[in-house]
Amino acid sequence: MLSELSEFLEVDIEKQLLIDNLLSQEHIVRLCSPRLDDLCADLKMEYRELPFSKFCPKCHRKYPDSENACYECLVTLKDIKEKTPVKDIDNRPKFTFKGKNDFKDFKSILTEDNLVKVNEFRFTMKNYENIIKNIKKTSLKNMDEMIKSNYIDMRELSILEKILLFAKSFVKIDYKSYGQELGFFEKDKIIIDDRQNDSLKITTLIHELAHFILKEIINGVLCKLLKCSKNNYINIISEYILSYDNFPMLIDEYSAHCCEGRFTVYGYQDYSSFLSIIERMNGEMSRDEIEITKSIGNNFANTIKDILEMFIDDDLRDEIKSEFEWHNHDKPNYEMLKLENCNKLTDEGYLKAIWLVVTDGFKTAMDNIDELEKYYNGA
Ligand SMILES: [Zn+2]
Ligand SMILES: [Zn+2]
Repeated sequence: MLSELSEFLEVDIEKQLLIDNLLSQEHIVRLCSPRLDDLCADLKMEYRELPFSKFCPKCHRKYPDSENACYECLVTLKDIKEKTPVKDIDNRPKFTFKGKNDFKDFKSILTEDNLVKVNEFRFTMKNYENIIKNIKKTSLKNMDEMIKSNYIDMRELSILEKILLFAKSFVKIDYKSYGQELGFFEKDKIIIDDRQNDSLKITTLIHELAHFILKEIINGVLCKLLKCSKNNYINIISEYILSYDNFPMLIDEYSAHCCEGRFTVYGYQDYSSFLSIIERMNGEMSRDEIEITKSIGNNFANTIKDILEMFIDDDLRDEIKSEFEWHNHDKPNYEMLKLENCNKLTDEGYLKAIWLVVTDGFKTAMDNIDELEKYYNGA
C-alpha cells in the first residue's frame, strides 16, 4: 500500500531549493562578537536591580515603591513580584475537539463499527484545515491569557523565553537535570534538560513541540471520523497510533526533525533520532518505502511549520539562528543534508497517507486494549 502512494509524489520545490543551495555553496561561518542583544541583556539585568518595586500593568513602565499609579495609563501600579518569570508559569493548556459522542473507555472506542468508520475515512482537506485552525486558535488564546495573567512584557523576554512562552501555549513543560536526552515528549508534557545552553533548549523545544502538534492533528482526525469529543482515551489512542510501529514513528520523528531544521541552522542538525529508527528496522522497509515515509513526514511538517510561524516570524527566526551561532563554534556539517527528502504528497496522496496511518494504528490498538489501559493507569 505504501509504495502505491508514490504516484502522488511531487517535489517540495521550496525545500529542494534550500537544500541544493546549502549543498552547493561555500558557507561563511559568522565570527562571533558580542552582540547588541547581549549587551542589552546585560543592561537590562542592571536595570532590574534598580530600586523599582512596582510597574504599570498597561505600559510596563517601572516605578519606585513610593508611587501608586501610572498617570499616563490611568491605572494603579502592581508589585513587580506579580510578574512570574516565563519559566515558572504553571500553565495547563487544553486542546479540545467537540463531537456528539463522548466515549467513556477504550472498549467503546475500539469497536468493529468504529473501525469501519475509520476505514471509510469520510475526511476531506477542508476537515483537515478546520483541525489546524482549531489548534491555532486555541494556542493563541492560551498565549494571550498567559501574557495577561502574568503581566508579561514581550520586550523584556529573551529569545528562549519567547519560544518557551509560545511552547507553553500548547503543552506543559517540565525540566530535568539527569540523563542523556536533551528532551522528550511524553504524556502531554515536554521535558527539557536544564543543563543545555539556551540555543539547544530552543531547538529541543521546537522539536518536541512538533511531536505534540502532530499528535493533536491525529486527535482531530479521530474525533472527526468517530464524531466524538477529545478525551484522555482518544488522546492515548492517538499517541499509540504514532508510536506502536516503526512506520508512524519514522513519520513523526522525520517531521519533528524537519520542523526543527526550519527554525534552526542547517548544518548543525542532529539526525540521530530517525537514523536510529532506520537502523532498528533492519531492512523491514525498502529504501523506496523509507523515502515515501519521509515524504509523508514532510507533509505533516509543512502544516506544523505553518502553525509555528504564527509566532516564530522571520525576525524571531533570525534571532534564533544568531543565538545558535553564538553558542556553537563547530563547523557546520552539510554532508548529512543528503539524507533530506524533498518530496511531498499531493492533497489526494496526503489524505490516503493519513488514512493508512490512522487505520493501521486503530486496528492494532483494537488488539492491544490491555496495553492501552495499563498506560492510562500510569504503568
Ligand atoms: Zn502606564
Ligand atoms: Zn523526536
